[in-house]
Amino acid sequence: MVIKKEPTLYDQAREVLDSKIEEMGLRKTQERYRILEEIYKREDHFEIEDLFDSMLQQNFNVSKATVYNVVELLTEIGLVIRHNFGNKNAARYEKAFGRRQHSHIICTKCNKVVEFCDPRLLLIQNTVEKYSGITIKDHSLVFYGVCDNESCQKK
Ligand SMILES: [Zn+2]
Ligand SMILES: [Zn+2]
Repeated sequence: MVIKKEPTLYDQAREVLDSKIEEMGLRKTQERYRILEEIYKREDHFEIEDLFDSMLQQNFNVSKATVYNVVELLTEIGLVIRHNFGNKNAARYEKAFGRRQHSHIICTKCNKVVEFCDPRLLLIQNTVEKYSGITIKDHSLVFYGVCDNESCQKK
């Protein structure tokens, strides 16, 4: 019996990257795939700095500029989403492929991010779409607050 392994999100994202790289006439450098893999292993909303650090920890020798450029490319082709949570913070990123649309709640003390989905947002979207005459393609909603962590409450 042949057990067929379900393709992971990374496998699927890799295929998208493959075809985009061909389309854009870029070289298939090892860095691009390795960074994509690292991003798809993560479950968090990370800064470039976090990604760079974890790659260093795994002895993957790559420059910060390369990490930055690859993440830019992945954002451009829709495999990664960039968030600007609050203006003073560095941009945060998360994997995009195969993920549901969701909203975020941020603790402004420790920068913890919690995701949520609420179907009522779709109702709002449909309503404003009707009266504005604008076809909505995307939205972002972020709540800012203080989490129940003791040290955040104290600050
Ligand atoms: Zn907190
Ligand atoms: Zn998220």
